Amino acid sequence: RSPRLERYRQAHDLAAKAFNHILMNTDAGVQALHYLLSRGISRTTMATFQLGYAPPSGRAMMSFLQQKGFSAEELIACGLAVDLGGELVDRFRGRVIIPIADRRGQVVAFGARALDDDAKPKYLNSPEYELFHKGRMLFNVHRARKAIRRERRALLLEGYMDVLAVAQAGIECAVATLGTSLTEEQAQLLKADCDKVVIAYDGDEAGRKATVRAIEVLEQAGVTPVVLRLPDGMDPDEYIRAHGARAFERMLSESTWTAVQFLIEDMRARAEWVSPAGRTEFLRQVLRLLAERASPVEQEYQLRNLSQEFNLSVETLKEEMRGFAKPLR
Ligand code: ATP
Ligand code: MN
Ligand code: MN
Ligand code: MN
Repeated sequence: RSPRLERYRQAHDLAAKAFNHILMNTDAGVQALHYLLSRGISRTTMATFQLGYAPPSGRAMMSFLQQKGFSAEELIACGLAVDLGGELVDRFRGRVIIPIADRRGQVVAFGARALDDDAKPKYLNSPEYELFHKGRMLFNVHRARKAIRRERRALLLEGYMDVLAVAQAGIECAVATLGTSLTEEQAQLLKADCDKVVIAYDGDEAGRKATVRAIEVLEQAGVTPVVLRLPDGMDPDEYIRAHGARAFERMLSESTWTAVQFLIEDMRARAEWVSPAGRTEFLRQVLRLLAERASPVEQEYQLRNLSQEFNLSVETLKEEMRGFAKPLR
């Protein structure tokens, strides 16, 4: 292990502890503490996730770490300090701090949320550097791993706050991508520990699009994707706050969709229902999907549904479906 990288880990470890202390034990952190409490995050969850607060003042963390022997160059290299027009300042100012750890649980980066919903950007993350590549890590993977192995499944979410809310609800197997779409490497990371991934992205257009992509990436990696569709405009955190942890758990055990079911519903939502040509196009899209991606059981099941919906015989639908050859993998 390189001594230089080891120092970046040490700097992050010290910073995480200091941010957490400020949040939980000082007057400077009171506003942020109340912000988190008002979002339903308990003190226990704050401690578990080592949440913190970076005060708005310009260089407190830098000075603290410099006193501990870190150079300005080192702090810039690992993203804790930034050059603001010739002046060095802390990267994170006036934000709630969410430590991001690697697979072994070593903090290597931070996500930071503004207390004000209108602030731009809402989230500020550490920059990519040798120890932090967004596309290669998943938030919370070091805490969730045991549960993921035990349950042979993972819950894949969009945001930090979703992971916090779900963990607080007692579900331990949740991880999140860090504001980017799921990569092949992240899918492989999950595949190492389980064979099924429940995707529970936000119930908005962006979340649905990201779900379609995640399904493809997971299937390519050999993991079975299952989808939890949230009500319009809600993310898991909002759902749990509105309906409670039990309701979320119930949805998780009773209302998940297979990838094929989700994709059909997605096509349905986009279809042009007013024209006969649009309806036929939808039908053909579904048949193509079934030919290329569905198991025989799922094919049969969906063909029966379509037969009723479009008042066509299963045989006719099957014949049309066979026209779409299954691509060679
Ligand atoms: P909150 O509940 O705090 O408003 P959220 O997680 O619901 O946050 P989303 O807008 O759904 O926020 O974004 C999902 C995730 O994408 C965030 O948790 C964060 O990791 C990332 N993200 C969002 N906005 C930004 C941004 N401006 N810069 C970088 N990452 C971002
Ligand atoms: Mn979102
Ligand atoms: Mn949210
Ligand atoms: Mn969200």
